Amino acid sequence: MRYEGSIYRPPSEAYSLIVQATIGCSHNKCAFCSMYKDKEFRIRQINEILEDLEAGKKYHKRVDKVFLADGNALALSTEDLRRILIKVKELFPECRSVGAYSSPKDLLRKSLEELKELQGLGLSIVYLGIESGSDHILSSVAKGATAEDIISAGKKAVESGIKLSATIISGIGGRKHWKEHAIESARVINEISPHYLALLTLLVQPGTKLYNQVCSGEFELLTPKEVMEETAALVENLTVVDCVFRSNHASNYVSLAGILPLEKEKILDTIRQAIDEEDRYKFEIHRRL
Ligand code: SF4
Repeated sequence: MRYEGSIYRPPSEAYSLIVQATIGCSHNKCAFCSMYKDKEFRIRQINEILEDLEAGKKYHKRVDKVFLADGNALALSTEDLRRILIKVKELFPECRSVGAYSSPKDLLRKSLEELKELQGLGLSIVYLGIESGSDHILSSVAKGATAEDIISAGKKAVESGIKLSATIISGIGGRKHWKEHAIESARVINEISPHYLALLTLLVQPGTKLYNQVCSGEFELLTPKEVMEETAALVENLTVVDCVFRSNHASNYVSLAGILPLEKEKILDTIRQAIDEEDRYKFEIHRRL
């Protein structure tokens, strides 16, 4: 297998065969993100990607899941994705999931019919970084998409039959905009109705624009307790049905998980306990991306 630079993948893809379809992220401008700063974006040659899948076949007896890295493999043309998915089926008939990160714009560029075709060929899950549902916050972190773009992109993925895992970042509105972040993020999630909702917590990385804003005092970070108050406001406002909610990432102060709406009260109880007993928070030095 050939890999360029650091590789990132969602926690649920920990045991997947990872193949880089792109190098880096085509946007690469988010104020909080340091993941692909060392890479210049490019789409890999299709033959290289297919060769890597063949190499994977030599090293692994069976492959249950494939994850197409890097930052947004949905930037590939539909023709290239079609060839990759057909190759995965040919090499790994046992494979039950192919996943990739996508930007809102990648999903918007593809027609519903194209997405349905890719789903039929085995593209089973797309990970969409929403970050916040507030247009003000999306603009201040340079996400490159509005809430309406994100809603249209997410709804299109869900309608195509591809499972959608959406991510929101706690604390990304800072002290000034935490309430707006919670309410607007819940609104966007409710409109999209993703299959999975992951809630990460903001970690400020040196070398990012946000790091400089924190150092200068322009952006005020939430305390762990304030993060939990924001999380409570978000969860209280969610009306999604059959959504797997996870906030048990290495970046989170408190681990939360449950099916919404079935376990909403259980999740809220855990949050309320965390607000009352502040010694339950993960130590700052143990938080990771
Ligand atoms: S958060 Fe996602 S879209 Fe933004 S720069 Fe990082 S990888 Fe790219």
